[in-house]
Amino acid sequence: MNILIVEDDKRIVSFLVKGLRAEGYGTVVAGDGIEAVRLLSRDLGTFDLVLLDLGLPGMSGEEVLAFLRGRSPRLPVIILTARSQVQDKVRGLNLGANDYVTKPFSFDELLARARSAVRTAAQPVATELVVGDIAYDLLTKVARRGDRVIELAPREWALLELFMRHPTHVISRTRIMSEVFEYDFDAGSNVADVYVGYLRKKLNHPGEEPVIKTVRGAGYRFVAPS
Ligand code: CA
Repeated sequence: MNILIVEDDKRIVSFLVKGLRAEGYGTVVAGDGIEAVRLLSRDLGTFDLVLLDLGLPGMSGEEVLAFLRGRSPRLPVIILTARSQVQDKVRGLNLGANDYVTKPFSFDELLARARSAVRTAAQPVATELVVGDIAYDLLTKVARRGDRVIELAPREWALLELFMRHPTHVISRTRIMSEVFEYDFDAGSNVADVYVGYLRKKLNHPGEEPVIKTVRGAGYRFVAPS
């Protein structure tokens, strides 16, 4: 486990680094908020936990947390704060921290909270989208309609995900082009319509209720079968 420590108080840093290393954890230290953001930009995927002081030079812990949550909603963060006021804790939790400890804290307490935060973050999140009798597994990329398994090509994965995340919404061709094809829409292109056609054929076998409706002049709408 690799832990990013964002703290400007050198005594606390040294106490944490010694203790965490003795427990077998890797540690990386950022002494201010700007360094923390730099490390989080560069090495985000390498951290399992962030210990974050709020009162930091350069950029506050709150700003670091807001930056992090914009990129990684799930990386666990424990706030280390000397501010024992309730509103500071509430603000930190509202910004997306998982937990907090108030300085001075015991190493054992911190360790227990760190383990708990990492354990909770490791719980699997729902990876299946379900609309009516259609289910789509975001990890395996397998879709099913009832018991029927539907084989999809990569562009169709993204298109189905877009539709299933926004059932009943009108999805424009422009949006399909930007989110599924990731380039700007050439007004003459009918690529979006072609792929919607492929997906329709796969989702709707004869006798099954259509799920992708055309909204004239606007785009498409994914509607759960009744
Ligand atoms: Ca501080």
